[in-house]
Amino acid sequence: MTTVGILGGGQLARMMAISGAPLGLRFLLLDNVADACAGQFAPMLVGDYRDESILAEFADKVDVATFDFENVPAESAHWLSSKVAVFPNPNALAVSQDRLAEKNLFRQLGIGVPEFRDIPDFENLQSAIAEIGMPCILKTRRLGYDGKGQYRIKTEADIAAAWTALGAQTLTVGLILEAFVPFEREISVVAVRGRDGEFRHWALTENWHEQGVLSASLAPATDTAAFEAEAIACARKVAEALDYVGVFALELFLCDGRLMANEMAPRVHNSGHWTIEGAETSQFQNHLRAVLGLPLGSTRSVGVSCMLNWIGALPDAGPVLNETGGHWHDYGKSPRAGRKVGHATLREESAVALAETLARVGEALLREAQVAQVLSRLR
Ligand code: AMP
Repeated sequence: MTTVGILGGGQLARMMAISGAPLGLRFLLLDNVADACAGQFAPMLVGDYRDESILAEFADKVDVATFDFENVPAESAHWLSSKVAVFPNPNALAVSQDRLAEKNLFRQLGIGVPEFRDIPDFENLQSAIAEIGMPCILKTRRLGYDGKGQYRIKTEADIAAAWTALGAQTLTVGLILEAFVPFEREISVVAVRGRDGEFRHWALTENWHEQGVLSASLAPATDTAAFEAEAIACARKVAEALDYVGVFALELFLCDGRLMANEMAPRVHNSGHWTIEGAETSQFQNHLRAVLGLPLGSTRSVGVSCMLNWIGALPDAGPVLNETGGHWHDYGKSPRAGRKVGHATLREESAVALAETLARVGEALLREAQVAQVLSRLR
């Protein structure tokens, strides 16, 4: 009996546990909140990720450890790796936790990135803005996610406000300034690398965000011929440079026909949720296969899929459940503003059929705005 330990017990751990059941796997979770939603499916230890006694208990009970979120303290991951195999390796986790280290790595690997500067103090913010220009975005280097810990600077007046909002964080998580990219499209590569170095990727995914949070994904993305090979090569280079094992996502902007890397998520990713129904093997099961050293499953797409995220509260499930190609995912969380509480994936055999289903569901749920951009790609 193999037990996989997962640091973090959110919806990613929950979907991982569900996908691992057919492989006969057991799971043990560690989370700092008692009602983490994966706890409905697997036993869970509750405690601080920095607490060595709880980490030791966790390490004792699992055969391999992995993560459902990237903000596990790097020291905890290092400590754990002295007791049990940890994938992805703690160094890969540390690099992808830090927007500055990550962008430096992308640049070293010859991957395009928006202009960026480390911002240790207010004087550096002013000089960096003079060099990079406005608009630009001030972001925390670490612990930011879903658009949190970011401030957009459009005019002189925003500079002081951005510093008031984030300046104190230079002392804790650090800050980075990035040029604002007027991108045409946001694309992600969700890929997996096995313990033996085998690399596989799913179809490129196009993503749309609302206030920094993923709202909809379409896979396979349309009209990707001009940049597909380059996008995949970028993902592969990053994975190899980090000796990465497991699933990860590389988020890219397409701007004037050029790719620029935004960030890498060292875990299964929201833009890969469609793979549960839209691919031969889901990102969740392939992550487990990778960390266990099992053969990786085929990442071939099955039809055309659109994933819609439910943020804050779930809409009525009926219109999705009524569709032949409709798949509903309720994460078992209580509603809260800004919280990801579930998603739906609509999968059909063709883009034309998906457009029809999506339009019907969007209208029934009064989510026309959420589906409009996806529809523009399908029609
Ligand atoms: P992040 O947390 O870095 O993934 O940012 C969340 C979202 O904000 C991205 O998916 C983009 O839609 C937007 N965003 C982040 N950085 C930039 C940038 N440098 N230029 C334009 N948009 C950005």
